[in-house]
Amino acid sequence: MTITVVATVSDLWRVLQKHRAEGRAVGFVPTMGFLHDGHASLMRAAAEGNDIVVASIFVNPLQFAANEDLSTYPKDVEADTALAEANGVDVLFVPHVDEMYPDGPVLTSVYVSELSDRLEAGTRPTHFSGVATVVTKLFSIVGPCRAYFGEKDFQQLAIIRRMVRDLSMPVEVIGCPIIREPDGLAMSSRNVYLTADQRPKALVLRRALDAGVAEIESGQRVVQPVLDAMAEIINHEPEAVLDYVAVVDAASLEAPDVIAGELRLLVAATVGIPRLIDNQGIFVS
Ligand code: AMP
Repeated sequence: MTITVVATVSDLWRVLQKHRAEGRAVGFVPTMGFLHDGHASLMRAAAEGNDIVVASIFVNPLQFAANEDLSTYPKDVEADTALAEANGVDVLFVPHVDEMYPDGPVLTSVYVSELSDRLEAGTRPTHFSGVATVVTKLFSIVGPCRAYFGEKDFQQLAIIRRMVRDLSMPVEVIGCPIIREPDGLAMSSRNVYLTADQRPKALVLRRALDAGVAEIESGQRVVQPVLDAMAEIINHEPEAVLDYVAVVDAASLEAPDVIAGELRLLVAATVGIPRLIDNQGIFVS
């Protein structure tokens, strides 16, 4: 099927109404565009598990703080449309800010407490209420669906899962693995901000995660030495500025007392211009 690109909520409703009338299951992939193979993997998963795939491209002002990269966020709608079509998207929703927020600043927002107050919140305190609000809005525009999110944004995935359960949203959330460049750098639209010189240095995030995993695999069961091993890798790279390293329980995102169970190692650092994040799961019996 050729891709249908729509810019308004009413057009999207019209298109989806026809599919739903014929009993088609809808897969949904929300994005901010400048698509890469990480996004494509979500689209392919959605195409495999559903009859019809909707993807959205919307750079949501609510989730950017004043000092962040809203105005410079990379954009290429033509290439995105081709990538989406090649990866099984049937309907691409690309609304303008005025379509999503016709009354200006929202008076209603969604905030998932506790899960939104740690990790990324240290430097981005308002970020996740912006994310939860726009995802709620997109879910109510798209309607009942399976929604695909990347583990690349692990905290975001945990927040959306909890929000859907808490608010009984008619959405099944599917988490998908992190897609990496051949050298191990997690794919991100923001990697485009890296200069040729900084690009190899961005691998410190991956190396920090590897160092944490190696500590654990060598028998370390105390959290702090694992964090130290991760931080040391980042701090050795002069171009990188460490934001945080963390080891958390994969479900609660809380720091464990000892290294055991289903855990997630996370890292955030600025390399040159972009602030990059990455994470890695590990199970310790
Ligand atoms: P974004 O456009 O950055 O808002 O991301 C849209 C969706 O793609 C989110 O669910 C992300 O977690 C997911 N995503 C971004 N990068 C990757 C990646 N490298 N691997 C898997 N999923 C990703």
